[in-house]
Amino acid sequence: MAKKDYYEVLGVNRDASEGDIKKAYRKLAMKFHPDRNPDKPKSEEQFKEAKQAYEILSDAEKRTAYDQYGHAGVDPSAAAGAGGFRSAGGDFSEMFGDIFGDIFGGGQRSNVYRGADLRYNLEISLEQAARGTETRIRIPTMEECATCHGSGAKPGTEPTTCPTCGGHGQVRMQQGFFSLQQTCPRCHGSGKIVQSPCSTCHGAGRLKQHKTLSVKIPAGIDEGDRIRLAGEGEAGLNGGPAGDLYVVIHLQPHPVFQRDHNDLHCEMPISFTTAALGGEIEIPTLDGHAKLKIPTETQSAKIFRLRGKGIRGIRSSSTGDLLCHVAIETPVNLTARQKELLQELEAINVKDGGRHNPRAKSWMDKVKEFFES
Ligand SMILES: [Zn+2]
Ligand SMILES: [Zn+2]
Repeated sequence: MAKKDYYEVLGVNRDASEGDIKKAYRKLAMKFHPDRNPDKPKSEEQFKEAKQAYEILSDAEKRTAYDQYGHAGVDPSAAAGAGGFRSAGGDFSEMFGDIFGDIFGGGQRSNVYRGADLRYNLEISLEQAARGTETRIRIPTMEECATCHGSGAKPGTEPTTCPTCGGHGQVRMQQGFFSLQQTCPRCHGSGKIVQSPCSTCHGAGRLKQHKTLSVKIPAGIDEGDRIRLAGEGEAGLNGGPAGDLYVVIHLQPHPVFQRDHNDLHCEMPISFTTAALGGEIEIPTLDGHAKLKIPTETQSAKIFRLRGKGIRGIRSSSTGDLLCHVAIETPVNLTARQKELLQELEAINVKDGGRHNPRAKSWMDKVKEFFES
């Protein structure tokens, strides 16, 4: 997979102005941003590609270097991309930080890269989050080839020293007034040449594989929390260390509870008779049931707080509360007899001058005053 021309990636001419480049990048970044394309893994690649192109072309110095020397002038891993796998450096700015040291400083560099970090989105239930759990996940990853142990050479053979660079991975070229050091085009910086490639990985040294990992999820974990599995990301390149795997927690919606940090909220519908006369009701909690006393004359939207019936936080020693929000249910499907009883009740209410419904009465009084003034 040859690296695409940065101007082509952004869809601009070689003499495009800074403003045009910025505009083109913005458009692509909006289109391919991974958050906008969660089900299209390809768009992440396109996003990165555009970002990389922009980082080079928006910087006058880097753009000049790119115009003169192409990818080799700005990205030492560009050559590694030709091997059929994407470059492993996660942070481009970090990668570019030493480009000029490389070209102008003449420092020795080996083409060793840390593997990319991986992200895995894991959905768990609220109960699992509250109690903690252990689960197995299957992830695609670039693993060191077991046949050649990452060397890319057929078993029994050894990679030989690259004759072009003498094993340094870098070659010196005379460019005008100064001597330019760049990644060896023959060995792509590894300093070694694989004469007979490993038949399992075709010389790449890494293979796309799936692995199953066991993940311990601590009790109290919340939406968006990340669990880092060190060294479980992609394998490194040319002996570089592996990246990390981040398991990002997502909570499934719960039929009864909504979580707010360590507190739980639930709606608690009660009949209008229970609200008026009081009573005791059974309410669900994460670990069973609890009894709740409803006092007489309970009003709509009242919140009952059950201390310690929430979730014990992962970072705090205290346990949250369960907050039950009262929703008084107006009776439905009334029989003729029930209607008769309610009408009788209402007649008494009216006769008593509204003292059984003080809120409704004071509101009506205010409304009257407003229209009479
Ligand atoms: Zn191999
Ligand atoms: Zn070489």
